[in-house]
Amino acid sequence: MGQMVAGKSSEETIVRRIIKRVRIPPGSGLKVGIGDDCAVFRPRGSADDLLFTTDLLLEDVHFRRETHSAEDVGYKALARGLSDIAAMGGDPRFCLLSLAIPRWASPAWVDRFYRGFFGLAGKTATPLAGGDLARSRRLACDVIVCGAVPRNSALLRSGARPGDAIYVSGLLGGSALGLAGGKGRARKRHLRPEPRLALGKFLREKLHAHAAMDLSDGLSLDLRRMCLASGVSAEIEAPPVFPGASRKQALHGGEDYELLFVAPPASNPPSDFEGLPLTRIGTITAGRAGAVRLSGRPLAPLAFDHFRRP
Ligand SMILES: [Mg+2]
Repeated sequence: MGQMVAGKSSEETIVRRIIKRVRIPPGSGLKVGIGDDCAVFRPRGSADDLLFTTDLLLEDVHFRRETHSAEDVGYKALARGLSDIAAMGGDPRFCLLSLAIPRWASPAWVDRFYRGFFGLAGKTATPLAGGDLARSRRLACDVIVCGAVPRNSALLRSGARPGDAIYVSGLLGGSALGLAGGKGRARKRHLRPEPRLALGKFLREKLHAHAAMDLSDGLSLDLRRMCLASGVSAEIEAPPVFPGASRKQALHGGEDYELLFVAPPASNPPSDFEGLPLTRIGTITAGRAGAVRLSGRPLAPLAFDHFRRP
């Protein structure tokens, strides 16, 4: 949790090994598989493409019961998946929730968990359509969110082209600051990240962004992932920093759930969207795939990796 690691993430290595084993049968309708914020499935004859994302939320990995209320845990379990739908420019349609409940979780705790979950589900019109319940030593939940976009319009990570301007929404590092004990807005940012659904739709419909993703693991690592997926590199300056956060937290801190997107410079996005700042931080360049430079110097992808070696 909040651990920093240098160099190639071993999560990347594991994912690469999994991808090698995947065989997509011809005509399956699966348009985008492993490696983007959501999988994209095109039902035959449908005007919409369907988006699917799944996220784990684990006790003592993603949250601690000493610091996170039951409502916060329920909220965050759904927010993570909704953020991936936002990253594709999609509308959420429904979700599935599997929950493993430990003995410490009283019926009242579980009720409050669902209150946080259903609060966000109601606000974003994401009805719960099913799931599973089990007993376990620690609380674990997995949320699947299904969303939709008009056919062939999902914002992918792989669409960035040399010359595109790079933007981020909001101010970065707030969640890392909240995790490190920051109070007030930073703590709220960590506990209640807001999935940028309206912004994602704006980027797809109005701005015609070339690529987008959500910032879940930190700008340095997430921008590297976008560049790898697009076969390009990036030159950036320091991103806008959340009040009180450090530059390091803004560059490498996870769980801000803001959107990172690229668009042709001529598309000229507004300086804010519904009060949320949109800031240009750099330019996509035609260099080694995945290379990111900050103020002209290589930026190492320091960020959280569950599979780091001690
Ligand atoms: Mg994501």
